[in-house]
Amino acid sequence: MSFSATSYETVVDGSPIILDGDTLTLYHGDTSGPSEVIHQSHPTSFESSQETTHYFRSLALILNNSCNLACKYCYAEQGGYDMPGRRMSPQTAHMGIDRLIGSVRQNRGESLTVGFFGGEPILSFDLIEDTLDYARKQVPRDIRTTYLLTTNGTALREDHVKTLEENAVRTTLSIDGNQAAHDSNRVFANGRGSYAQTVRAIHLLQGRVPIQARITVSSGNVDIQDSITSILAIGLRRITFAVDSGISDADFETYLRSLDCFFVKYASDIKNGTYYDVTNITQPMLSIAMHKKKRAHCNAGVAYLALSADGQFYRCHRFTGHKEQSLGRSSSVTGVTIRASRQERLNNLGESAASRSTDCAACPFVYLCGGICFHEALLSTGSEFKTIPRECRHRRTIYQGVVRLLGGMTSQQRRDWLLSLRQLWTNENREEVISR
Ligand code: SF4
Ligand code: SF4
Repeated sequence: MSFSATSYETVVDGSPIILDGDTLTLYHGDTSGPSEVIHQSHPTSFESSQETTHYFRSLALILNNSCNLACKYCYAEQGGYDMPGRRMSPQTAHMGIDRLIGSVRQNRGESLTVGFFGGEPILSFDLIEDTLDYARKQVPRDIRTTYLLTTNGTALREDHVKTLEENAVRTTLSIDGNQAAHDSNRVFANGRGSYAQTVRAIHLLQGRVPIQARITVSSGNVDIQDSITSILAIGLRRITFAVDSGISDADFETYLRSLDCFFVKYASDIKNGTYYDVTNITQPMLSIAMHKKKRAHCNAGVAYLALSADGQFYRCHRFTGHKEQSLGRSSSVTGVTIRASRQERLNNLGESAASRSTDCAACPFVYLCGGICFHEALLSTGSEFKTIPRECRHRRTIYQGVVRLLGGMTSQQRRDWLLSLRQLWTNENREEVISR
């Protein structure tokens, strides 16, 4: 038995476990004498959020550059990017939808995704309604449409929720944990915390649209175990988290220790039959379970584009603050521009980890991770294809935890866990969501 150069060995409950990084297969034993495969492709079928589709089929509409909050860690400068107060016109939104439909039709696709972003998109709810109406009339019946909304929730009203429910809009809502953690950063312009309004929004949405909670780990909010526990207590079952790049080194170390503690709790919950989806952990678990390679961290600039409030296409929502990164105006951006952006991305990947041209070539987790966020890498290193040591450490902590977690489960526990995730997704009628 031979392993690729990129394999990872660890010990779980006294037994060696190895992940073959190129095939995403887990084994008992070590590289000198592996024994049985402890996890094989599972018969349960899952839709994967990690498939790379090589044509444009997901669009984020940046409806406005305004926000009613003044979160201390906001990368978009209170939603303004470099165009504070700007609002998208219905004509621009329609143009974006037309381009999206055109791309999906041309490529004989069966589905498309429209995301509502800001600023704070709820502040442009009239445009959300107009766009839903326009898309309903324009998208051909044989193309499935998924709507996404990313919001702070604080301006949400009952009549908004009715529209979101009617259109099954999958909603990602930012909440950082308990009241103290949340209010330490997520404040209104007058400095008042927004926790009460956020929880009110969750209660309005619960049971009516699929909700994902999004935690930003930052100074003042470093205990990820506590944050997740607090959000579970509100009744949410799908959570994702990201680390603020401005977090201090000391706080980052505290956070990593808390993440390790959370892995112990998550393993214990799974073994006790308490299931919930922490996507940063369940996605790499599924990748191993299904032997699905994640070839890139996200689909930005390939299947996923963002349209800024002033009508320019960008590779993703976070690039919209950078004029020099524009792919062109909605009326002039061409398939050629998008293909060039895509080719640049694909040139840096490879059929095996070692054949990549990025810093990730020697990493055993390259097909769980895909590489760094292009936007973060560009800001931190000046190159989209370089890694950021602290971010790599963060991800490796997660992947190492995932290998230990799967390696410590019995086959029955893995089967029950997979079925529970499928049930959770079926209940939400989840379809493929572009990884962002
Ligand atoms: S970004 Fe870092 S953790 Fe991810 S594959 Fe590259 S080297 Fe590995
Ligand atoms: S991971 Fe980075 S590059 Fe990809 S969509 Fe998100 S912000 Fe954009």
